[in-house]
Amino acid sequence: MEATIFDIKHFAVHDGPGIRQTVFFKGCPLKCWWCHNPESQSKNIESFTRINRLDGKEFKKESPIGYSITIDDLFKTIQGDKIFFEESGGGVTFSGGEPLMQADFLYEITKLCKENGIHTCIDTSGFAPEETLQKIAKIADCFLYDLKIVDNYLHYNYTNTPVFDIISNLNWLDQNNKNVILRFPLIPGITDSRQNLSEVKLFIKSLKNIHQIDILPYHDIANSKYNRFNKENLMKGSGLIPEEQISHIKSEFESLGFKVGIGG
Ligand code: SF4
Repeated sequence: MEATIFDIKHFAVHDGPGIRQTVFFKGCPLKCWWCHNPESQSKNIESFTRINRLDGKEFKKESPIGYSITIDDLFKTIQGDKIFFEESGGGVTFSGGEPLMQADFLYEITKLCKENGIHTCIDTSGFAPEETLQKIAKIADCFLYDLKIVDNYLHYNYTNTPVFDIISNLNWLDQNNKNVILRFPLIPGITDSRQNLSEVKLFIKSLKNIHQIDILPYHDIANSKYNRFNKENLMKGSGLIPEEQISHIKSEFESLGFKVGIGG
């Protein structure tokens, strides 16, 4: 069995508890305007032209984005960092893209990690069939779950997908007392509107067992990726969110009883 991934990050400290290895699956059903991994969206292995300049000359080289990996090879890579997981209370995080798009592989590698005492987090948009999510929830230790926009029309407008399955999967995780950390991307002019913030607050207030939310403020470091990979950047020219606004929203979530982090 093989998966298509586009990166593996070692010693990650913002993708769940402790020191983690983050595996980035390729392919995502969403198309968020602010996506900071635009190379993750297509599930196909793509290529881009790398241009190196030397002495006034240009050298062009086609480079692949993504590669196939077997369960055995990925598990060997994960195990290579096991000592750091054990010392820090960390583990592996399956991210993307959307890892649930490669559900069979994800299930098998998560099971293998569990059998070998490696903590697993699934970093997901939540956009997946309920049976897919519920199957992986039986063995995964933790979910990092994006909650972006509650209104269906706006969600569709900014991510190209409806929000209903995302909300109902999240409700299921909450009702079944799964370990979930919410992630709220704070995007200027989009998720930071008063309407969206009110709706997000109303929704998270209804959750019974989820008590942590991380605010992920928009940053523009992906701009160069959009240029490099020749993809349209719908956030081009957007400013950053002021610190005071981030602090204010943090206090609003805290007033609902949530533990709130900034930046994951
Ligand atoms: S869900 Fe994540 S990976 Fe998918 S498009 Fe949105 S930001 Fe990008």
